[in-house]
Amino acid sequence: DDLREAYVRKHPESCARHERAQAWMPGGNTRSVLHFDPFPLVIASGRADMLTDVDGYEYIDCAGEFSAGLYGHSDPVIVAALHEVLDNGLVLSGPNTAESELAELLCQRFPSLERLRFCNSGTEANLFALLTAINATGRKRVLVFEDAYHGGVLTFAGGGSPMNVPFDFVTAPFNDIESTRASVKRHEDDLAAILVEPLLGAAGNIPAEAAFLAMLREEATRCGAVLIFDEVKTSRLGRAGLQGHYGVMPDMTTLGKYLGAGLSFGAFGGSKALMDRFDPRLPGALKHAGTFNNNIMSMRGGLAGLRSSFTPDAADAFLQRTEAFRATVNARLSQAGLNVCLSGIGSILSLHIGAQPPMKVAQIHPQTMLLRQLVHLKCLERGLLLTPRGDIFLSLPMNEARLGEIAEILVSAVIQESPAL
Ligand code: PLP
Repeated sequence: DDLREAYVRKHPESCARHERAQAWMPGGNTRSVLHFDPFPLVIASGRADMLTDVDGYEYIDCAGEFSAGLYGHSDPVIVAALHEVLDNGLVLSGPNTAESELAELLCQRFPSLERLRFCNSGTEANLFALLTAINATGRKRVLVFEDAYHGGVLTFAGGGSPMNVPFDFVTAPFNDIESTRASVKRHEDDLAAILVEPLLGAAGNIPAEAAFLAMLREEATRCGAVLIFDEVKTSRLGRAGLQGHYGVMPDMTTLGKYLGAGLSFGAFGGSKALMDRFDPRLPGALKHAGTFNNNIMSMRGGLAGLRSSFTPDAADAFLQRTEAFRATVNARLSQAGLNVCLSGIGSILSLHIGAQPPMKVAQIHPQTMLLRQLVHLKCLERGLLLTPRGDIFLSLPMNEARLGEIAEILVSAVIQESPAL
């Protein structure tokens, strides 16, 4: 309560703007995930790895726009590319000069992609991948994992959402080989797709076990279902995403977030055979339109980011640097005698109660969310912004000194707040 009161006193302008927004948007909100009580901070601007709120406070940005903020704010090469676009027309009514270059780069990077198509968000990418699988197999059922998040209409936390698309979903527990294999067997004649995040994100950044992904690959092949990896977030975890890291190849991959360099972005793709169903020259081709699918800002911004900042070598170096960060924080938490640790891979992390990160959702400690909420407020007080639900995202502009600063604030917040549980 003290933390909340201090927060309200400190942020009058955010509070006033939140009040005003309520006249026009339900709860003053247009992105459910950003809300927290008493009110979310209204952000005025960002630069490199820092954000400034409308009350003038600065924060180290570890919210990282839920992973879309990989490049930080105003990366000079991306900004220059976008300025050039602004000077040369935005709504071009035809294929543009950037889209095929970006498609080529993405297919070269992610081994499962032979062909891809662009869309406007990760949600759309997953919807189109599922529809491709349904069309290709002539089946309807889709296996997803409990508590997974694949977009605003593909939400499986707590048994699903009334807003979900009415697809024929069945669920299985993530990282549970036996029970998932049994589910596949039960539905194998009807199964169009298995959709999985190789790191279960929103539910607590739990990495897949290699054997679990290998089993999914084996079962999908055996029963003729399309295996789809949702790499909307995880494609940043190494030079070839998590498919490269695990060496397990899905039939289709979906992408989004940072690959548009901070602009709206989505892409879905896979083998030539699957994706050629969209070839408009073929009789009966699937139609996939969308005014902004190839919008030149996202295409040019995305290209500039991949070519200049997130090269394959930079991706490897970033993974190493951020893995070292997690190891350091975990060592300090354990030296302090705390039963708290960070889960995740590289730049995508979550706090958990326990000496080791959970491998299954059922192992998540019931007071984890409370700890994350307390740590979130405590870190805000010290100038470090995490996501309201406690995910932590690191970004490319963060150097060793900054990572040290983040580790110090985070560890001391956990030390102060964990006895409250
Ligand atoms: N898939 C995953 C794993 C995500 O984390 C998200 C967004 O958080 C999405 C899909 C949806 O992407 P978007 O918000 O661009 O629709």
